[in-house]
Amino acid sequence: MTKELFQPLSGNVMPRFGGPATFMRLPACELEANLDVAFIGVPLDIGTSNRPGARLAPRQIRDESRMLRPYNMATRAAPFDSLRIADVGDVAINTFNLQKSMGIIESHYDRLLDTGAKPLTMGGDHTIVLPILRALHRRHGPIGLVHVDAHADINDEMFGEKIAHGTPFRRAVEEGLLDCNRVVQIGLRGTGYAADDFDWSRNQGFQVVTAEECWHHSLAPLMQDVARRLAGGPVYISFDIDGLDPAYAPGTGTVEIGGLTVPQGLEVVRGCHGLDIVGGDLVEVSPPYDTSGNTALLGASLLYEMLCVLPGVQRR
Ligand code: MN
Ligand code: MN
Repeated sequence: MTKELFQPLSGNVMPRFGGPATFMRLPACELEANLDVAFIGVPLDIGTSNRPGARLAPRQIRDESRMLRPYNMATRAAPFDSLRIADVGDVAINTFNLQKSMGIIESHYDRLLDTGAKPLTMGGDHTIVLPILRALHRRHGPIGLVHVDAHADINDEMFGEKIAHGTPFRRAVEEGLLDCNRVVQIGLRGTGYAADDFDWSRNQGFQVVTAEECWHHSLAPLMQDVARRLAGGPVYISFDIDGLDPAYAPGTGTVEIGGLTVPQGLEVVRGCHGLDIVGGDLVEVSPPYDTSGNTALLGASLLYEMLCVLPGVQRR
């Protein structure tokens, strides 16, 4: 039996400003809908350390995704021609309890992964990547990682807490979730608590590419290198929108100047083509600080680009 494929609702069928907001105006489906790819929201921001608001991002990203059309004119990717893709809604986190929410997210992703669907996640703050990686690790073993961020998110604690949006990759290493020699962190910058803050990552075997190393040039050569090193195993893409410069993405919680450009962000995601991508997320969009909607639009567009580099996507 051939599987039924879904198409984003065309702007020639329903005006782009009409209808319910799902990602790319795809059908809203149950978790167990036999999907190849599931767009899913995690409306959690109780792990943030500065400005809040990322709880509102899944809704805003869905709304701003309404302009996205099915074909990728740059890469010729045609994701909806071969994969069954829909929006499976949000995880019902407990907004009064971060620890409990970690368990809720992990078991929700367990259920989703049991169906064989690959998750593309609308965060939420970056805390959510830890339970997602726990669920993915159960299926795939240690995972390679392309992590775009202004921050390394490898703090041991924040305000005495082990679980927060600045700690997930430290926990992931401790729990053996990552294949540390296949991890790259791109866009790190800003001020630190100690001069060697980023060295903890390097000492785990991560490749650290600071924002300064990215300034003024294309990241395509870097990504060719990264793709060679990360090949041969599962890879997850975790994209914190604050990796981009606040000139492009001001709607976020912990802003650092001197970040990546939009074309560089696209080069990073497109450079993942050919890798065994098992999922991805776009986190830390904060709609209250995103007065133009451009940050959410960027987030939506980067999630679409992640979709376009998944294994099995045809290029026309
Ligand atoms: Mn982050
Ligand atoms: Mn960050």
